[in-house]
Amino acid sequence: KAQEKYREMSIAEFFAKNKELAGFSNTTRALYQTIRELVENSLDATDTHSILPEIRISLRELEAATDDKPAKYEVSVEDNGIGVPPNEIANAFGKVLYSSKYVIRQTRGMYGLGIKAAILYSQMTTGQPVFIISSMDSSENIYYRKLLIDIKKNEPVIIEEGQLIKKNNWHGTKVYLTLEGDWTRAKPKIIEYIKRIALISPYAEIIFETPDNEIFYFPRVTKKIPKPPSEAKPHPHGIDIEQLKAMISFTKTKTLLEFMTEEFQTIGEITARKFLESMGLDPNMNPKSLIEKGNSKLLQTLSTGLRTYKGFRPPRSEYLSPIGEELIEVGLKRLFNPEWVKAITRQAKAYEGHPFIVEAGIAYGGNIPPSEEPVLLRYANKIPLLYEEREDVSYKVVSSINWKIYNIEEPMPLVVLVHVASTKIPYKGVGKESLSEVSELESEIRNAIQEIARSLRLYISKRNSEHILREKIVT
Ligand code: ADP
Ligand code: MG
Repeated sequence: KAQEKYREMSIAEFFAKNKELAGFSNTTRALYQTIRELVENSLDATDTHSILPEIRISLRELEAATDDKPAKYEVSVEDNGIGVPPNEIANAFGKVLYSSKYVIRQTRGMYGLGIKAAILYSQMTTGQPVFIISSMDSSENIYYRKLLIDIKKNEPVIIEEGQLIKKNNWHGTKVYLTLEGDWTRAKPKIIEYIKRIALISPYAEIIFETPDNEIFYFPRVTKKIPKPPSEAKPHPHGIDIEQLKAMISFTKTKTLLEFMTEEFQTIGEITARKFLESMGLDPNMNPKSLIEKGNSKLLQTLSTGLRTYKGFRPPRSEYLSPIGEELIEVGLKRLFNPEWVKAITRQAKAYEGHPFIVEAGIAYGGNIPPSEEPVLLRYANKIPLLYEEREDVSYKVVSSINWKIYNIEEPMPLVVLVHVASTKIPYKGVGKESLSEVSELESEIRNAIQEIARSLRLYISKRNSEHILREKIVT
């Protein structure tokens, strides 16, 4: 028999060959996904750092479609964010799975993949390099790089680089990409996406120039910006044995007691002592000894204990950054001009050591077109999710609710918004379009929606009875 041929594939090659995994399955999705990745990076570089975002998105047609070729576009997105350090630009944009977001923090990005997936798609469809201009607030220069990704090596290839002296105090990033796309078909989704971003970020100024020479302008309507998320230490319930080993090899602490209180959130000395005692572990032991040969049983004990011990306090939620009831209500009013609106931000809960907050909003009546099902607006860490609706846990909850018991007429003039904020969103795929059915999450979403729906029922019955009363008086 013939011998099989073995070789290794780089992660860049893997995503080049499996574009659909990252949301680049065709020319329509690719255009949408490219804008999404750029906008989300821009928002992470602004509101996540307490900067009021100014984001300018521009899409130009470079070549029209022909019978056998899709059209070619140039996408550019500019922000006033924190910028990228000059020595990091090449890897951040040219190496798949390179990121500044591999920390425990609520951000839109999380895999270090997004912009590289867009660049790979751009490069494979047009052969053009990506062009990045960036400057940090503290910098006296503006840096630029033109680069391609070496797919076999997963490394950036710099085509051109340089720097200019900064004459004003601009800081931020501007990225230009050229790709094949289908604007006509992507247009409704892209516009919907930008509207939904604007809905929950009234503190941002967003400008979108389309290839049809239209301009969508969402002015800033408030300077109130949610408290930014901060970085957290891991919670013991979310740590597996490999992560534990890595933490031990990095720690500077000298005893197990210190390791527990320094490297994890929510663990004080009393809890740490109790925990170690119940595991039969010596608090004065050097943590490094746990990763030495012969101690794998002890390491296993510690690891299992961390994940399952009931005496730890739940993960801390003050690191999270919800949108807030006020901004959600403002946004829903601005977009739908409803008869009634209400939003709630629930208390934080946790799953597998990750804190999360569910927020929901319901808008009823007014300009909302009645339909068989409520319109569902899904968000995760302030990202609108537009695809895979039926696979999402929120859809499961919303479609299982019997709206009749809330006195809502059919067809329903109803919009339901669900936002999940977390240091770890349980996405179903790397394309980040739907959330898994984590049971803790599901019950929070249900509670949030039902709580608002009960207020809506009160409102509707009051309104209806006043109506009947008026009719009685009139006749
Ligand atoms: P992720 O967003 O998941 O980290 P990306 O591939 O989209 O992955 O981006 C890689 C990194 O590039 C980011 O972590 C960030 O540090 C940097 N970056 C990308 N775009 C911007 C931007 N507009 N402003 C500042 N930094 C950016
Ligand atoms: Mg990103």
